[in-house]
Amino acid sequence: MSKFWSEAIQHLVPYVPGEQPKEQQIVKLNTNENPYPPSPLVMQTLQDFDLERLRLYPDPDARALKQALADYHGVTRDNVFVGNGSDEVLAHTFMAFFRQKAPLLMPNISYSFYDVYCNLYDIQYREVPLQADFSICLDDYSQTNGGIIFANPNAPTGRTLELDEIERLLARNTDSVVVVDEAYVDFGAQSAVALTQRYDNLLVVQTFSKSRSLAGLRIGFAIGHPDLIDGLERVKNSFNSYPLDMLAISAGVAAIKDEDYFRSTTDRIVATREWTCNELQALGFIVLPSCTNFVFAQHRYLEGAELMGYLRANGLLVRHFSRPLIDNHLRISIGTDTEMQQLIDTLTGHPDIIRLEA
Ligand SMILES: *Cc1c(COP(=O)(O)O)cnc(C)c1O
Repeated sequence: MSKFWSEAIQHLVPYVPGEQPKEQQIVKLNTNENPYPPSPLVMQTLQDFDLERLRLYPDPDARALKQALADYHGVTRDNVFVGNGSDEVLAHTFMAFFRQKAPLLMPNISYSFYDVYCNLYDIQYREVPLQADFSICLDDYSQTNGGIIFANPNAPTGRTLELDEIERLLARNTDSVVVVDEAYVDFGAQSAVALTQRYDNLLVVQTFSKSRSLAGLRIGFAIGHPDLIDGLERVKNSFNSYPLDMLAISAGVAAIKDEDYFRSTTDRIVATREWTCNELQALGFIVLPSCTNFVFAQHRYLEGAELMGYLRANGLLVRHFSRPLIDNHLRISIGTDTEMQQLIDTLTGHPDIIRLEA
């Protein structure tokens, strides 16, 4: 607290990102980064980049990247908004659409940046409880609202909604903006992007941080009706004309082009995830079904916080949330096969863990 802080920031409760440890040898399974490097095409593009161009400002409209995304998703460029990571896209979304009289609706367990933005922009919100099995029930969102946001697949649960459930929500909720945060959609869920062509209040947000191995470059985007995109551009152009630098724009285009690499790495992660789920179950964990690059699991009789500390002491970092309802769970990112084997071996070595089958 300082006397120089404006009134508005004194009450902010900022988001706390997962730890980025200094030690190199630690196995990082705590922030859902991709264990594989970016596409070779991305790396070649960055190596070939004419660094002298950096004296110029980048394209404020990032047209090349918007066009690549539009082609990839079968929409037009005026359906696409890009930002400095999807966190920035989401921030602009809250500013542009959710500052309404009626409260924003969101799941009580979801991406914890949502309530941070509500605080930042003074947005009233109502948390809708998940079902007992941690799934979202969209029927519970049939109430007066100034907007609806949820992640699909949800974070940190990993649970997924079917597209027809989302469409039924859109059919009855036509007077406020519905945002679907698809940060993890490429790991096995159905995208709602096609529905943006039929519902002018739907905005789908995605990121290059997870499935495209580019968390360090900061690229996120949204797809929706041109009027929604215009609203986002108004906020963006009142904030920062150049959220994407030249390197990010070029590398982003290259990442979209390398479909083979994208498919092979996401397929590999899905296979490793299924192996990890089975192994964790054999060690006494209850694992939620996941369509993401992480699993959300709790042990039948050991405490989440204790297990996280044990793993940390053995060189493995996983995420634990000290929040009601989920404070016994661990969110474990899917790493390489070797990393996940190390996780399972380390857990097997825990003095109180017994392997269920031979
Ligand atoms: C990781 C994540 C984001 C943010 O991704 P960036 O593009 O890296 O900012 C947004 N939403 C959810 C649910 C995430 O898990």
